Amino acid sequence: MYVRFFSRFLSVMAGPRPVVLSGPSGAGKSTLLKMLLKEHDGVFGFSVSHTTRKPRPGEKNGKDYHYVSREVMQAGINNGDFIESAEFSENLYGTSKAAVQDVQARNLICVLDIDMQGVKSMKRTDLQPIYISIQPPSMDVLESRLRERKTESEESLQKRLQAAFKDMEISKEPGLFDVVIVNDHLDEAYGRLKGALLEEIQKVKNAAKA
Ligand code: ADP
Ligand code: 5GP
Repeated sequence: MYVRFFSRFLSVMAGPRPVVLSGPSGAGKSTLLKMLLKEHDGVFGFSVSHTTRKPRPGEKNGKDYHYVSREVMQAGINNGDFIESAEFSENLYGTSKAAVQDVQARNLICVLDIDMQGVKSMKRTDLQPIYISIQPPSMDVLESRLRERKTESEESLQKRLQAAFKDMEISKEPGLFDVVIVNDHLDEAYGRLKGALLEEIQKVKNAAKA
């Protein structure tokens, strides 16, 4: 009884582990993430990255990304403001220390959407997130989803497909990801994502009740 109480106490004190979602562009990370944030409002908080790419229609500054110039972003990186940063498809992307701290200060599970370079960098920090890879069912499906999304120029689309091919190979590396989810049917993929995070969700809910 005492041991159970003590281990519960320790797990609440440790706070929820962050969650990293990674996988090829077009695999469905944002779609799944939005479903998670909507269903579990008050449990998860999104780490808003910085990027030098232009906003897509519907994206909001400060919500989807902090949209900045290359000069501003590079100055921030040089200043040590970022936990990690990477060049992807000719743009800079990065997770600022403030983005993660903002979420953790609210006792929420911090969710990061980062590319493979970000995953490798994150492994060198002491954040100890749960690493989840979202994969498309095939390269053909990925290409048609990216085309149907209608957000990329042909050049950007080709760069993303090249990166995806490499990403899908690297993600097979044993131990790199805790969970690999193939996003074929959206509802099934979402069910698996929630299943992988049940324990952390429960932790946040218990802490809120305590
Ligand atoms: P990412 O954030 O990984 O780049 P998105 O979430 O933007 O990918 O998804 C890419 C496109 O594929 C979007 O238009 C989205 O609506 C669509 N999509 C995502 N998951 C599925 C799915 N399981 N079946 C069909 N289309 C999907
Ligand atoms: P998009 O332009 O489609 O929003 O994102 C392109 C890629 O950049 C995706 O693979 C996404 O996961 C990644 N990305 C977004 N934010 C970050 C970040 O802060 N750091 C890193 N390393 N990658 C990011």
